[in-house]
Amino acid sequence: MKAIHYPQSDDLRGLLRFAAEDGLIWLGEHRMLLIHAGALSELRKELICSVGQEQARRILTRMRFASGMRDAELARRTRSLDELSDAFVMGPQLHMLEGCARVEPVRLEIDPDTSRFYGEFLWHHAWEAEAHVQAFGAVDHPVCWMMIGYASGYTSAFMGRFILFRETECAAMGLDHCRIVGKPVDEWPDADALRPYFEADHIVGRLLELREEMEAMRRTITQPRRTPDLIGNSAGFRHAYDLVARAASTTVSVLLLGETGVGKERFARTLHEMSPRKAAPFVAVNCAALPGELIESELFGVERGAFTGAQASRAGKFERADGGTLFLDEVGELPLAAQAKLLRVLQEGEIERLGDERTRKVNVRLVAATNVDLQKAVAAGTFRRDLYYRLNVFPVTIPPLRERICDIPPLVEAMMQRFETLHDKRLSGISDKAMLALKAHSWPGNVRELENVLERGVILAPSNGLIEVEHLFLGGAPQAGPQHQLNATGSLETRDGRRQAAAIDLPGAVLDSGTDLESFEQALLKRAVERAGGNLAAAARLLGITRPQLTYRLKKQEGQ
Ligand SMILES: [Zn+2]
Repeated sequence: MKAIHYPQSDDLRGLLRFAAEDGLIWLGEHRMLLIHAGALSELRKELICSVGQEQARRILTRMRFASGMRDAELARRTRSLDELSDAFVMGPQLHMLEGCARVEPVRLEIDPDTSRFYGEFLWHHAWEAEAHVQAFGAVDHPVCWMMIGYASGYTSAFMGRFILFRETECAAMGLDHCRIVGKPVDEWPDADALRPYFEADHIVGRLLELREEMEAMRRTITQPRRTPDLIGNSAGFRHAYDLVARAASTTVSVLLLGETGVGKERFARTLHEMSPRKAAPFVAVNCAALPGELIESELFGVERGAFTGAQASRAGKFERADGGTLFLDEVGELPLAAQAKLLRVLQEGEIERLGDERTRKVNVRLVAATNVDLQKAVAAGTFRRDLYYRLNVFPVTIPPLRERICDIPPLVEAMMQRFETLHDKRLSGISDKAMLALKAHSWPGNVRELENVLERGVILAPSNGLIEVEHLFLGGAPQAGPQHQLNATGSLETRDGRRQAAAIDLPGAVLDSGTDLESFEQALLKRAVERAGGNLAAAARLLGITRPQLTYRLKKQEGQ
């Protein structure tokens, strides 16, 4: 059996980022915490004392089972699955990076075709054994429950089947290391006794199920402020929503104000749905989308022969909205002549089709919206003052998305559900980092922009995977403060010192140096292979190409 060597951990350290000025630590897209082992030991001890050893063991095992699952997702993304054992040992490497123990591989057999798995590892200076001995003294049974949870969660998620690890030796029993063995749960003769620590009365085997239940619960909790179209719980949103709800039962004209994309039509539709007119039509017109010469015939209708081309009589939007609600979006764009007619309709409650002598009674509730400052338009003479007063009886300002950041998570959840259905795709959620990037964005295009960004995210994210930053913002989210990462000796250094230097003008520097393209490529490939410690797959990843592409290029150079 060949010895197992860890591949270089550059890729792994690269995932860990310390953004101290933002108060954030990242492992890939997952938010991490650097806490004192002593504090976690204290929590562990109190848990054991308060709920008893059996229950504490279950909780602790499951807690770290969840960590292991997250890291497996990271491993599958980061390392090429062509070299399965290299990809797999990222788990033990992460477990080491996270400070739990030194993990020494003893035996590892993975068969992806049959999902066969056997793994045996030694843990040196396992933190949990030390913590247990410190709290309770030496014991006669294994106690590294969290670490076993991690190993099992990682391997189960990596292999796609329940792989159960157990400790056959533990440092808490007076040995100088712990020894763990993992294999498919059914292959353990005492599987039935072990299984309860992982799935048992409550969670782990049902982890995903549980998450869905929780999401369903959260949905019912936020129900009061939800209509199919409007979602939010921020103070600004609730204020606008309450105003609309109060106006709904009356016939007052409502003027919706707010930046483009804030969802004015959705508010208008909701107002209609909440009003006694909900059974009658809701008709929406975007005044900016119609050419000026057509707008009057669109709104008020036209009688046959009124002008060349008017072959038949046609009802306008007002008549079509009779008994219901007419929504005039971008009302500031109406030409002055149409403004005069609109004012008359509002005052008299009757319309006249173009080219018609008759007047027709209409019963229409008007909701207008604008993203321009109508008062300024009045001052500039492009909007009638009397119409402005008539429309501005009940103004409702819808806040921009950047002023209702706390509404982003529920909006994201609802939009993801919608787009998953629309694109027939199932995702496991959105990463911590992606959610943070969504909250940090300034959203000049408001909810509509968020919708576009999320739809792209749902399309680009891998099936059953997470939406990550790169799926939302092309080129990644802008970094806020300076970030640090671990160098090979384990010290923090400013991230991207190298890349910043490179960004100065790498092509210019190469040209100035008189190096030709081939020699430059050769040097670059050589450096990547060196940095990857001779591991070609890792070198290819550094260069952003596939291993066969790298091999081809290296061969080409050798041939010269
Ligand atoms: Zn142990």
